[in-house]
Amino acid sequence: DAATFAVRVAPLGGNGLVLVLAEDQTERLRVDAVRRDFVANISHELKTPVGALSLLAETIADASDDPDAVRRFTGRMQQEASRLTNVIQDLITLSRIQGAEPMAEPTEVDVDEVIEEALDTVRTAADAKGIELAAGGTSGLVVMGDEGLLATALRNLVSNAVAYSPQRTRVSVSAEATEQAVEISVADQGIGIPPQDLERVFERFYRVDAARSRSTGGTGLGLAIVKHIMTHHRGEVTVWSKEGSGSTFTLRLPLSEGAEHTEDAEPAPT
Ligand code: ADP
Repeated sequence: DAATFAVRVAPLGGNGLVLVLAEDQTERLRVDAVRRDFVANISHELKTPVGALSLLAETIADASDDPDAVRRFTGRMQQEASRLTNVIQDLITLSRIQGAEPMAEPTEVDVDEVIEEALDTVRTAADAKGIELAAGGTSGLVVMGDEGLLATALRNLVSNAVAYSPQRTRVSVSAEATEQAVEISVADQGIGIPPQDLERVFERFYRVDAARSRSTGGTGLGLAIVKHIMTHHRGEVTVWSKEGSGSTFTLRLPLSEGAEHTEDAEPAPT
């Protein structure tokens, strides 16, 4: 890629000498472009439901003598309003968490409780599709972190697993400790993600299939939120997926800062 430089030339006194300052602007321009895209995306995501709401309101005004139509259209208005609420709520969560410093005062978080809580929030949606929710028994694991944020991350993963899976499949959540980390995985038997999209699904507003995502009520921000929550915990989120057979998302939380330091510590060169 081409680099962009801003060049400034200033005369140095009256003796014909000039000072040339060249500043690499490439990164700043890239950040500007990302910000512009993000704002354009937000505008689009907010304007779509607002546009639908105003159209529906107009239609209702015209159909005021048809109670069935009024009922149908007000139902649609409620859907659009809740879509708008979801986008706004996700934007608030994202702006709070992205760019935040790594957590200063993490507290002990019971992993089994967070899993149970996340599963509870999707139970109704899972039942409606005959999807079996399986938690791999009690792990007894404890991690250091922010309970509310970890619950949000896991809730986003299990609700995606249910949303992007066909009827009568299984979504399982399990937790295990490795030497350096606690790993919480959400595995589904859903539609999967094409290889070329795998890296991009964590980007804000990126969707593999916009139409499908819209019909599931998705905002396109869920995985970006998960990624930022994990960064905030000095952890990471990874994904494995096979189109047509399913996906597994894994949250990896470092066991403790101390463990990280011992690993980094190398004998001083002599
Ligand atoms: P959305 O609100 O659209 O679900 P996310 O950020 O949560 O947004 O996910 C981004 C995209 O990644 C989704 O639109 C979907 O295409 C894909 N995706 C996420 N989770 C899964 C999954 N478990 N199975 C298949 N596709 C998924």
